[in-house]
Amino acid sequence: MSGQARCLLPGSDYIPRVDSDATTEALCQKVWAGERITGDEAARLYELPLSQIGALADRRRRLAKADAYDGRGNEIATYNIDRNINYTNVCNVYCKFCAFYRTEKQDDSYVITRAEIDQKIEETIALGGTQILMQGGHHPKLDKQWYLELLSHIRDKFPQINIHAFSPSEFIHFRDVFGESLETLIRDFREAGLGSIPGGGGEILVDEVRQRISPLKAMSDDWLEVMAVAHKLGMASTATMMFGHVESLGHRIEHLERVRRQQDETGGFTAFIAWTFQGENTKLKAPTVGANEYLRMQALSRIYLDNVPNIQSSWVTQGLEIGQVALQYGANDLGSIMIEENVVSEAGTTFQMGVADMRRLIEGIGYEPRQRDNWYRLVDVQAAAA
Ligand code: SF4
Repeated sequence: MSGQARCLLPGSDYIPRVDSDATTEALCQKVWAGERITGDEAARLYELPLSQIGALADRRRRLAKADAYDGRGNEIATYNIDRNINYTNVCNVYCKFCAFYRTEKQDDSYVITRAEIDQKIEETIALGGTQILMQGGHHPKLDKQWYLELLSHIRDKFPQINIHAFSPSEFIHFRDVFGESLETLIRDFREAGLGSIPGGGGEILVDEVRQRISPLKAMSDDWLEVMAVAHKLGMASTATMMFGHVESLGHRIEHLERVRRQQDETGGFTAFIAWTFQGENTKLKAPTVGANEYLRMQALSRIYLDNVPNIQSSWVTQGLEIGQVALQYGANDLGSIMIEENVVSEAGTTFQMGVADMRRLIEGIGYEPRQRDNWYRLVDVQAAAA
């Protein structure tokens, strides 16, 4: 990567001290000190050699997670055990990047039964899981009562399980179909058992991009409004980004800016998760984004999102090894073991990982592996003993 601007990182003796210019150096010092950066500065950082943006992101991870030690001086990285449950694949939104949806008439369309839900949750609990991540298509015919009864059934039968469910675009669908305000819907869903809201459907929070890849889906302001209402009601959520399709770097930075601004206002995002578009079986044609761009973007996310405490790496789309390396590029969490995943696997990506692999990957890169819950509280045996 010769010819690129480089920076002289304080405390980094492995970064070649060549080619530095005053502007780049000042920017790197600013990042190293933990200061907030602008969009223009983000674009400049993105051009640094990968190892350097990684070192800066690692520094910011350490500043953000200064308490992430196990009491014996070991730095920790966390993971979660939960299960993806997609309650229906019927959807009338037809996103161009999606290989998961079906129309009601297709033979392999489904709506999950109670018996299937129960079995999946029982398997999750048997594996030490603490949560289900439940999302689905925008089914045109399921009514509000169906969702409320589903939630209360799960809550009553499995009170130890957090129901992390219904992304903002599903709530926008509920608002439009049920004719009720987001506040009423989120309150009612919470009362029935909903514990937290996943950031699915964030894609790129720039409408000109959304118009190209998912014109019938919730637009940027809708997505952010659901999160604002949820946060004001005291519910936690995550924020996501799916990149590597039709968007530019400027769009990605605008996405980060919108997440950061929202977090400044309402503070309810527990984590940010970025992953790359998986194109097989989808209508969207775009070149595949490789590990370099993934790691670079994740590192930039850690630096830019100075008010989001946790950054999750995406082994599900990048594979186990890149997911592991991402822990040195700003991530402090390896996500979930994913007992079941249906959406990116429909798009041709089928990486699998069990708890032993998860712990091995974290240990292999020098951290103490610890299981956490949705709020990033440690829940494993060591935590109980501490
Ligand atoms: S991504 Fe979600 S909303 Fe879009 S078509 Fe697929 S299931 Fe429907």
